[in-house]
Amino acid sequence: MSTFGIYVQVPFCQTKCTYCNFHTGVVSSDRFAPYIQAVQQEIANARTLYDALPLSATKHLLDLPVDTLYIGGGTPSLLDPQLLRDFLDTIRNNFHPDWREVTLEADPETIEPAKARHWAASGINRISFGSQSFVDVELKAAGRMHRAADIYNAVPILRGAGIHNISFDLIAGLPKQTDASWRHSLSETIALSPEHISIYMMEIDEGSRLGLEVLQGGPRYSAGELPTEEAMTEFYELAQHELKAAGYEQYEISNWAKPGFASRHNLKYWRRERYLGFGAGAHSFSGAQRWANIHDANTYVSAINSGKPPMESVESVTSEAALEEELFLGLRQTAGIDLSRVQRQYGIDLHEKVSRLAARGMVEQQGDTLRLSPHSLHVSNEVLVELLR
Ligand code: SF4
Repeated sequence: MSTFGIYVQVPFCQTKCTYCNFHTGVVSSDRFAPYIQAVQQEIANARTLYDALPLSATKHLLDLPVDTLYIGGGTPSLLDPQLLRDFLDTIRNNFHPDWREVTLEADPETIEPAKARHWAASGINRISFGSQSFVDVELKAAGRMHRAADIYNAVPILRGAGIHNISFDLIAGLPKQTDASWRHSLSETIALSPEHISIYMMEIDEGSRLGLEVLQGGPRYSAGELPTEEAMTEFYELAQHELKAAGYEQYEISNWAKPGFASRHNLKYWRRERYLGFGAGAHSFSGAQRWANIHDANTYVSAINSGKPPMESVESVTSEAALEEELFLGLRQTAGIDLSRVQRQYGIDLHEKVSRLAARGMVEQQGDTLRLSPHSLHVSNEVLVELLR
């Protein structure tokens, strides 16, 4: 039976990390409850909202079972657990939950035994844990609130509360990171044996304070101590090697899991399956249309409170755009792209281009499946450009 996923955005943090370019804010905790009430309102009014916009074809989604829920941010683990529980009840009361995976993003320093027990009792069964590094000078330079000790404290608390699916995030390319410190973060992660690990390459752009310092100069955010591109590539390749040796399967460019623990929710994004997003800046995809909510949390809450739709853009996905998404997302996954299906669905034969790329060692073809070769996983954009040329 068809299902869909729900994403909820909680755009609040305790501080702003130096490398962060997300639409998140550091606000008083007094703002949390009114924001969550607005998201509850958006959920309760979804049917009417979709009628008022060119989204009426989406209404049928609301009658399908919801099998994944992902509460991300920001730092949703800052919310009072009772507020979170009431919120989960709103989702239960307005949809048809058949939840297989309910993820909460949590920062290590926010995790306490009572909170974790409350989360588990509310139905949360997966924690995506912003560990980022096990080296305090790196965490401090990046403006993170937690230290390595918080990670070691948090994991047994979560396990003790009955949460058996934990995902760790690590960042390759933090200021002050070295080969030795990266090896340390990797080995400490593996030693704690999470079910899932995401490794993100540091992205530098003018949307973060660190990015601005790289462009404009200055000593404040340690931009001068960023690892080189070559070092980051080596970090990534070392992670591929170490995680494989520890029994993790890489299923996406940035994601590894123990068998059976690939993220069901995130796979929906990569497989172009349907999901609805609620909250400021949340994105949705119905299979035919994509839409996004207003990014600014205050403007979002005002729109909801005055009965206006919170969407700021709605677009139909053309066949050309759908093909581009298929290839881009397919290349990110180790499952690869089914060339015959692409040919049937989009009327495009990629075999000749694939042969040329395979001759250059960038991709591998096995029967009708196209995959990036393992050492080309970080140059997927180059391959995409060649396939669409
Ligand atoms: S915790 Fe995450 S969302 Fe919040 S500021 Fe840091 S990187 Fe950005």
